Amino acid sequence: MTAYTVRPIAYVRSPYTQKFGIPRQPQLVPAARADIVFEADFPADCVRGLEQFGCVWVQFVFHDALNEGWQTTVRPPRLGGKAKMGVFATRSPHRPNHLGLSLLVLDSIGNENGRIVLHCSGADLLDGTPVLDVKPYIPFVEARADAAAGFAPAPPPRLAVCWLDTPPPEPVRALIEQSLSQDPRPAYHHDPQRRYRAVMAQWETTFRIAEHTVIIESCQTLQSN
Ligand code: SAM
Repeated sequence: MTAYTVRPIAYVRSPYTQKFGIPRQPQLVPAARADIVFEADFPADCVRGLEQFGCVWVQFVFHDALNEGWQTTVRPPRLGGKAKMGVFATRSPHRPNHLGLSLLVLDSIGNENGRIVLHCSGADLLDGTPVLDVKPYIPFVEARADAAAGFAPAPPPRLAVCWLDTPPPEPVRALIEQSLSQDPRPAYHHDPQRRYRAVMAQWETTFRIAEHTVIIESCQTLQSN
């Protein structure tokens, strides 16, 4: 068996610093802006022409799942956490090589201290995620709306959001609302009194979910003034 060595070309800078609350797929939360910050040895020429594309494929490592191993079958949240599917029939982070693939909107390309930075949105990535490759998305090749979509034929239903505390300013408010409306609970949680905590863009929220509504009880910035 041949082993291959790969190295990160970049790292993700994301508002999601914990896994809980990250959308389960890209584009479900348009307000989730993330930067792909390249390593210093990749010159700007590496992305010449990329600005002509609206979206990029980002190949990455589920680095925060490496110690959790993998199993032949997983229980997709989409199926209520009940049915088991083969790992290669799912997008689970718990897979043999822990490789992920996300299609992100490419908003702009910048430069920070000589490093290439891709400013993207619609991210489903944890802060610090190592990126192995970036490629342009080519709609005429890759957009196949007619393809069978198995047990994920449409976006999951969204929850309503109710604020009991003062919402944070935009764009953090949109990030929190769009993320929590995706129902981040594990599929087997149904207790309307159970309280959850999520941190996004350095704002901490506590909330519960009852009657298809996220009830945000508190929202505080973690940034010291
Ligand atoms: N779109 C990608 C794919 O299909 O390969 C990721 C799908 S996966 C279901 C998305 C989830 O992976 C997120 O909700 C988050 O919990 C988790 N995740 C994101 N970045 C991660 C990382 N670097 N390490 C471990 N888990 C991560």
